[in-house]
Amino acid sequence: MTVIEYPSPNYNQRSQNAVVDAVIIHYTDLPNTETALAYLTDPEREVSSHYLVDEAGQVFRLVKDEDRAWHAGVGSWQGKENVNDYSIGIELSNPGHSHGYQNFPQAQMIALVDLLETITNKHDILNHRILGHSDIAPMRKKDPGELFDWPLLANHDFGLWVGSFGTMKDLSLSEAGHYLSEIGYDICDIHATIIAFQRHFLPQHLTGKLDPVTGGRILEIYHKTFDLT
Ligand SMILES: [Zn+2]
Repeated sequence: MTVIEYPSPNYNQRSQNAVVDAVIIHYTDLPNTETALAYLTDPEREVSSHYLVDEAGQVFRLVKDEDRAWHAGVGSWQGKENVNDYSIGIELSNPGHSHGYQNFPQAQMIALVDLLETITNKHDILNHRILGHSDIAPMRKKDPGELFDWPLLANHDFGLWVGSFGTMKDLSLSEAGHYLSEIGYDICDIHATIIAFQRHFLPQHLTGKLDPVTGGRILEIYHKTFDLT
């Protein structure tokens, strides 16, 4: 994998005891890669990511893995805030929901797989900690969104995924909240969290409703997260 160095001034040091153990996947939500690179390296914006992967599969490195890129903003996973401290942020060029959301081309996905290969060889990152931005910030974010190819990642053994329509399960809102919170989600706004969950794990079923299909999938992902059978 060829990495194009494209340093951003927007980073600082990770906290002293921080261990990198998560990957956060984003889309740029900007019309093109040129604009995104300008944005992510503009000192006035105070945002960045470790990597950007464009539609053709070119990989740009903006911030070194050891340093703390500014991609996650306010969010949490499994009760831990300050996500920038313990994660690697990867931006994928895509106009996003703001500028005409598009499929992620194969070349881009394959480059992402290669990049994840490199990152997970270097850092100890478990599959249930390869996440979308909307997973860690369900009230604020939609990226990488329902068109992101989680199944392709799962075919390469990255991330959690359940393919077929599995078990149906009627869960109460509080039961769903319990399991979603155990999986890692912030459940301050349970409805936002259900949509975020569907965006990742039931992208064809983005209803925002806690129905038996969604309840069943929540349980399946809960079991996968903790390796239960
Ligand atoms: Zn994002």
